[in-house]
Amino acid sequence: MRILVTGGAGFLGSHLCDRLLKDGNEVVCLDNLFTGRKTNIAHLLTNPDFEFVRHDVIDPFKFEVEQIYNLACPASPPHYQFNPIKTTKTSVMGAINCLGLAKRVKARVFQASTSEVYGDPAVHPQPESYWGHVNPIGRRSCYDEGKRVAETLFFDYYRENKVDIRIVRIFNTYGPRMHPNDGRVVSNFIVQALKGDDITIYGDGLQTRSFCYVDDLIEGFVRLMNQTKSVGPVNIGNPGEFTMLQLAELTLKLVGGSSKIVHKPLPSDDPKQRRPDITLARSLLNWEPTVELEEGLKHTISYFKTQV
Ligand code: NAD
Ligand code: UDP
Repeated sequence: MRILVTGGAGFLGSHLCDRLLKDGNEVVCLDNLFTGRKTNIAHLLTNPDFEFVRHDVIDPFKFEVEQIYNLACPASPPHYQFNPIKTTKTSVMGAINCLGLAKRVKARVFQASTSEVYGDPAVHPQPESYWGHVNPIGRRSCYDEGKRVAETLFFDYYRENKVDIRIVRIFNTYGPRMHPNDGRVVSNFIVQALKGDDITIYGDGLQTRSFCYVDDLIEGFVRLMNQTKSVGPVNIGNPGEFTMLQLAELTLKLVGGSSKIVHKPLPSDDPKQRRPDITLARSLLNWEPTVELEEGLKHTISYFKTQV
């Protein structure tokens, strides 16, 4: 198949491009390189089945493809809050442009949605049926509400125009090719520990997240895209739940060194807890994560040793 991956030079997108090429597909990778890097796809540039197009998803594009994976959007809070209006435009206009293209060329189109659609959740763990608890006017809203509107657009194109959609709700994912300055917690803690800098815990560190290793996530993407029983949304994530203090201690244990844990102010609207209910992914896709946090962190630490 010929497949378009928007955001294909980013952390997740570049792993997805690798996987789709390995499965024998041709891949068009569209990216404006806002948070993505050419180094993430440098090894693919000589592959005749791979094409990189520098383009912004808010401007229309045309490709003859059979599948579209829409991943273009900054994912780390400091990056999506850098230009919040642009973040909303990227989610909304990017979705409209992908859906318009899918409608014209009759492609199946996949949206990388997020656990952030559940906001600071009042239901725990979060099943797909939970509508969420999202602040519409806060610092995280450009991302959360942008992704929620994208889901709305996907379902309206599905109902109104019979566009063949799939929606995944991704929970915190980590692994090689995260940007060292990305600002997300796993990369921050590893880079800080490797440099011997203080480990910065925001707030008391008792807030929780569930961390999925990138290879597990990509397997879930491909299974969801290539089945025909459900359009989603489907949660993909690792139900293992950790406090940020536990993550800091585990990172320090694995990296070694002399970093100290320090506390910094908690950003506004920071969700207190997050854990996916993956009952649907298990039954629909026969999917569950296979990489434990400690093992995944070891792979990720090895990668960052080559970067910092
Ligand atoms: P990332 O920042 O590494 O990748 C995003 C990619 O999109 C980058 O290559 C960036 O340059 C590109 N991009 C951003 N704005 C663009 C625009 N206007 N036009 C074209 N390209 C643009 O982040 P990631 O972790 O790889 O996330 C990929 C997708 O998965 C995002 O949509 C994100 O919301 C979603 N997601 C990720 C996680 C996670 O934990 N990694 C969790 C939930 C959702
Ligand atoms: N966090 C932290 N120290 C950091 C970066 C993040 O304690 O250096 C916290 C952050 O406040 C949040 C959690 O780690 O509670 C996960 O943050 P991240 O930005 O990775 O993802 P998200 O909040 O979007 O889940």
